[in-house]
Amino acid sequence: MRQFKVVVLGAGGVGKSALTVRFIQDVFLENYDPTIEEAYRRTITVEGETSSLEVLDTAGAEQFTSLNEVYIKAGKGFVLVFSLTQEASLKEVDHLRKQIYRIKGGESGSIPIVVVGTKLDLVNEREVPRNTIQALASRWGLPFYETSSKRNWHISDVFEDLVRQMRAR
Ligand code: GDP
Ligand code: MG
Repeated sequence: MRQFKVVVLGAGGVGKSALTVRFIQDVFLENYDPTIEEAYRRTITVEGETSSLEVLDTAGAEQFTSLNEVYIKAGKGFVLVFSLTQEASLKEVDHLRKQIYRIKGGESGSIPIVVVGTKLDLVNEREVPRNTIQALASRWGLPFYETSSKRNWHISDVFEDLVRQMRAR
């Protein structure tokens, strides 16, 4: 079985842990310690082929970029997370995206990345319109998903997309 290391990155509070734990354990965490950083393991079957994923839920504040560097070097695929309810968190995704290309030395399109906008269920708090993220993701050449860890919307799509990309590279 092929094994892949996946790193979940994004600003604090955007829902990285909720997304990771929903995928790994299929539960929604209302309150998860924002300082906990943990690696989880799960198998996933995509198009009849099973792979083992190690998913690292990072918890570093943005200033700990040296740590990010270690994670980015170790990771094969990346989930870049922002909250649809917090426009500023999208800037961190752009920053992380650039960091990944710089550190991995890859050209655009050569590294498995998925962009994820979380908290889709919080309709009344939404700050990032769909066409904004659509335009950005298309400029970046990256797939994006709008998810809700609370409602379990489109969580598996994220990891399946990433697995397809990681297998191909
Ligand atoms: P992290 O710091 O990026 O790991 O963020 P957390 O996963 O700890 O989530 C921060 C807060 O947002 C927590 O209170 C979560 O319960 C909440 N949250 C995360 N994802 C969702 C979601 O999809 N919907 C809603 N309504 N709340 C969410
Ligand atoms: Mg967390």
